[in-house]
Amino acid sequence: MKRMVLALLVAAAPLHAAPGDTAAREARHLAARFPGRMAGTPQEDAAARHLADRLTAMGYRPRRERFATSYSFQPAKPAAPVTTSLVSTNIIAERPGTSGKAIIVGAHYDSRTPLGVAEIDRRVGGPDLEGLDDNASGVGVILELAERLARAKPTHSIRFILFGAEEIGLKGAHEIVRRMTPAEQRATLLMINIDSIVTGDRLYVHAGPKMALKSPAGPAARDRALAIAARLGITAATNPGRNPEYPRGTGCCSDQEAFDAGGISAINMEATNWDLGDKDGYQQTARRPAFPMGFSWHLADIDRGDHLEPALTPGRVDDRARDAVRILNQLLTEIAVTPAP
Ligand SMILES: [Zn+2]
Repeated sequence: MKRMVLALLVAAAPLHAAPGDTAAREARHLAARFPGRMAGTPQEDAAARHLADRLTAMGYRPRRERFATSYSFQPAKPAAPVTTSLVSTNIIAERPGTSGKAIIVGAHYDSRTPLGVAEIDRRVGGPDLEGLDDNASGVGVILELAERLARAKPTHSIRFILFGAEEIGLKGAHEIVRRMTPAEQRATLLMINIDSIVTGDRLYVHAGPKMALKSPAGPAARDRALAIAARLGITAATNPGRNPEYPRGTGCCSDQEAFDAGGISAINMEATNWDLGDKDGYQQTARRPAFPMGFSWHLADIDRGDHLEPALTPGRVDDRARDAVRILNQLLTEIAVTPAP
């Protein structure tokens, strides 16, 4: 009996922890303990089991959904590209609601796979890549949101998804969309994605560009997230649209795209700097010795804790984890737990 009371106290403790604590701790843990989480490798599988265990410990019954996929690898030229087949895993955990509708919150947990020998030579991706920014940072936020909502009784179901194989073409997200029935797709009100929130100079929220033309749901959720940020005193913005290929208020290039393409309204939270370089969101910060390319994405020697943490503003990992958790926890509360009728 005493033991049970103690167990309850321990289980309840994280709710009193400061926002961002769990997210930052889980991000650092995933990055440092599970480097080289490349799609289809034993390291990706070990990370998937670890993340499912974390969700189980919070009281969820996560499903690990395996799927077959492939990518193209470029050997030394003039050899032709080689198609490599593999099996990856999505992890899904849910707080069931009462309305029959659902909101998906997701982040990819795999790290970059080198897509050719040239990338291996440049240390792009590979077994040493920690991926603290891309995307242990997003996974940490998902785990803390799941922890905070573990006892919530939401109106709309909140489905947490950790995607595999994002780095070889959003394969995990496409598989989720492909396996949905048309009725399930219609019942999915919104997809919220989180990818790479540490290295970039500023926090951004964008809406998926395709669905933004057809439905107000994505832009409305984006604007609501930005209004929450403003109310909480957190600096966040949306793509100002200085590059005509990336219209104002929209963004791209992570798992939300699979949902946007599949007819589901989506938003993405990321950190980068849309005022730099080609103004396409691909330059995260000013070029300087610690960031010769102006980004950390996929670089085994840059996107790692012992490089990023001293190179960035002190406390950056903790600050971003806290900001993202505060914004998204409030957004989920407003749109899924207690939405206006
Ligand atoms: Zn990513």
